[in-house]
Formats: sequence, structure tokens, C-alpha cells
Amino acid sequence: NTPLQEEDKEIYDIIQKEKYRQFSGLELIASENFTSLAVMEANGSPLTNKYSEGLPGARYYGGNEYIDQVENLCRQRALQAFHLNPEEWGVNVQSYSGSTANFSALTALIHPHDRLMGLDLPSGGHLTHGWQTSKKKISTSSIYFESMPYQVNKETGIVDYDQLEKNASIFRPKLIICGGSAYVQDWDYARLRKIADQHGAYLLADIAHISGLVASSEANNPFELCDVVTTTTHKTLRGPRAGLIFFRRKRDDDLENRVNNAVFPSCQGGPHNNTIAAIAVCLKQVATPEFRQYAKQVRANAKALANALIERGYKLVTDGTANHMILWDLKPLKLTGSKVEKICDMVNITINKNSIHGDVNMVSPGGVRIGTPALTSRSFKEEDFLKVSEFLHRAVQIALRVQEKAGSKMMKDFVMACQDVEEISTLKNEV
Ligand code: PLP
Repeated sequence: NTPLQEEDKEIYDIIQKEKYRQFSGLELIASENFTSLAVMEANGSPLTNKYSEGLPGARYYGGNEYIDQVENLCRQRALQAFHLNPEEWGVNVQSYSGSTANFSALTALIHPHDRLMGLDLPSGGHLTHGWQTSKKKISTSSIYFESMPYQVNKETGIVDYDQLEKNASIFRPKLIICGGSAYVQDWDYARLRKIADQHGAYLLADIAHISGLVASSEANNPFELCDVVTTTTHKTLRGPRAGLIFFRRKRDDDLENRVNNAVFPSCQGGPHNNTIAAIAVCLKQVATPEFRQYAKQVRANAKALANALIERGYKLVTDGTANHMILWDLKPLKLTGSKVEKICDMVNITINKNSIHGDVNMVSPGGVRIGTPALTSRSFKEEDFLKVSEFLHRAVQIALRVQEKAGSKMMKDFVMACQDVEEISTLKNEV
């Protein structure tokens, strides 16, 4: 028996069930992945016991000889993984997560009530890029700063750079944020840099979703033109849950100290040293030819899945994908994302409902987001994703029939109508 099994059987048993769930079903959440056992081992190591506020060589606690070695190695590997010259770029590896990395970056770059522009959440942006509704400021990035989100073009689903440029000339932002959580095309960093320069604004790229692709040259390189780049470490990068903040070093605005001080002491306390060690392990893996091959396969799989669904007559946002995910617009089928997510859950396919630009009801969005990183880690290739596309097609067809049987658009009627639908158990068994 393991120590956990001995000490706390309840938690042990739940972990075993979750482990089984993760590996027995089809994991298609675009922001999730399976870390390696080596990453897990570092993450669960005794480094979790240590306090180390400060930076390597300048800590507020004693006993940090080995912690300093870990953090220095992690910083070095982060720069190597993204092919950065240490004289031009530095990195802070202490953020607990992507959201705290972004809040620290905002704290470093602008002052309270300064203006920022990020991609609107219904257009595929993240909460921390200034999300607010017409009624409410929701994220600290809109509560503490003045936000004017930009959108994708309603016809094409691609960022409307012309409108962004026009709005920026009225709003005059101090910061433009690019990057998103549900954006399937690549970014025009040159255009964004030009718009930022018109207003002396900083340009921040949040590459949380695509960082594994960026490191493998499978996506445009934001480091050429941005001032600061943030990322999570647990999506396409396939590491533990955390965040990184890269900053340009050779400038007269001292971004290095501003970013480091924003992380600690402004936004956080003691670093999670076990996580930093696990990030270091992940970044060593990212720098290998095997990882580059993995990132290539992630994209090839997403393309294969997109093409297969389009061939079946379905509508995808931007009619395809340039990265690791697709956004499936279910509105032409008169189905909501929640209902398709529900059927998929019942048959052990994990996806998430997602808003599609133009949605009016944010609680019941009109599409689903599907990503290939996790199943690609399980060695899935294009032909496996053809099978996945068939399962997804069947799930959607089941959702349509159940909706008809329910006789109403209400979710509770839909769930009731799922009872005794034989195709659900048949599909579950096949998955
Ligand atoms: N930035 C982007 C683009 C994201 O998609 C996410 C999470 O999904 C985050 C930041 C926040 O990361 P976390 O959930 O680790 O706080």
C-alpha cells in the first residue's frame, strides 16, 4: 500500500477514479494535457516543503542552496526552450498559474486605471485580458484597469485588426494584449506592434494555449515583436500547472525589475518550488526533437479532425484551424454547446461548451471547443482522429434526436429525455 492509501483512503480512491476517467475516455479539452511521470515526480517532491521568497541569490529565507539551483536551471531552460538570447530576454518562473502571471504582468507594465485592450471573451479571449460585460466588470483586469476589448470579424471569425486600430486611436491604450483561449488562427504580431507603437503602448502576448507550438516553431513567433510574453505551462507545453513571464531585458524601462517585483512582493508570496522543478523538467523535454515532432502532430491531428467534420457538412469557426483546437459552431444545427457537451460526457468524451462570436446568451453558448494536445500525447495520429470525428458526429446526431424527443429547449427536459436512449450506451461502449 502507498502512504496515501494508508493515511487517507477516501482521497486515494477518488484519485484512482479520476485517473481511470482520464485514461479510459477521450480527453479533448483544448487546454488540458497529460504530463510525463518525471514531471509528476518533481511536482510531488519534498521541494514543496520549502519557503524561498525572493529570487535566486537574494532570498528572505535561509536554506535555499538547492532551491536556487532549481530555479536557475528552470530560468535557463525556459530561455533555451523558446530559443531566446539571455542578453535580450529574461524570465520569471514563479507565477502560480496563468491568471496570476497575467495579473503580475499588468501590474508591472501599467498603473491602476490605465487603459488596456485585449480580445473579448466571446471572441475567444481570456478573462484576464480585460473581460467585462456591458453590465459588470468581471476580471481584476477590468476592475483595476480601464478595458476596451476588441473583437473578431463576425463573418470571418478572424481578429478585426482594422477595427482594433480605429478603436485604439480613440481609446489610446497603454497596453495591447494578444492571445486567446478559443482562437483558432495565428496572430499578426507585426500589425499589432504597429498599432501599439501608434500609441506608445506595450504589446503583451499571452501564448498560454499555443506555447508548445511556439517553442516548436509551429506558430508565429511573438518574441520578435512583443515586449512581454506570458504563458501557462500545462497546456500544449505539457508541464505542471503554473505560469511564466518573459520580459525584454535590454531596455531603458527596466522591465526585469518591474516584472520580478510585480510577481513578488506585489502579487504573490513564496514560490511553489516543487512546481518550478516540474516546469524545469517539462522545459528540458520541450527542447527535444521528440517534442517538436509532438507539436507538429498536434497540429496535423487538429487539421485532420477539422477536415473530417467539415466533410460531414458541419460549420467550424474560420472554416478550419491553424493550431491545436477547433471551434465547432452548432448554431446552424439549432443545438447548444451545453447539450452536445452533456451527451459527450455521457459517452466518456470530454469537451467543453464555448461561446461563438455573435452569441447573445453567454450562459448557453452556441458551440464547443475541441483540442488535440492530450490525445496526441497518447500517440493518436490523423487516422485515430478520423475515428474521433465519427464519434463526435454520432454524439451530435444523438443530441439532435434527444432534443426532438424532449420536445422543449430546456436542459432539464433534455437530460430527462436521455434516459433509455440506447444509442448513448452503444456509443459509450465503443468509445
Ligand atoms: N491565458 C489564457 C490564454 C488561458 O487560456 C488561460 C487558461 O485557460 C489562462 C491565461 C489562465 O491560466 P490559469 O487557468 O492557469 O490561471
